[in-house]
Amino acid sequence: MGMEIIDFKATKCKHCYKCVRYCEVKAIQVKDERAVIMPDKCILCGHCLRICLSLQKL
Ligand code: SF4
Ligand code: SF4
Repeated sequence: MGMEIIDFKATKCKHCYKCVRYCEVKAIQVKDERAVIMPDKCILCGHCLRICLSLQKL
């Protein structure tokens, strides 16, 4: 499947857990001090992108 999952790897994740709290379907985990999205749970709503301060700076 070629679904486009938001890529936190390219970002400077501050592991603030904001995206984890905001994700309605709980598709985000913080592993190795950066956020990782579980593709099978993510519904691509984009909420995590909107609230992540690190991503907004890119
Ligand atoms: S909101 Fe951004 S900085 Fe915070 S844990 Fe999620 S990806 Fe990392
Ligand atoms: S796009 Fe939506 S469902 Fe997917 S990880 Fe971000 S907040 Fe969760």
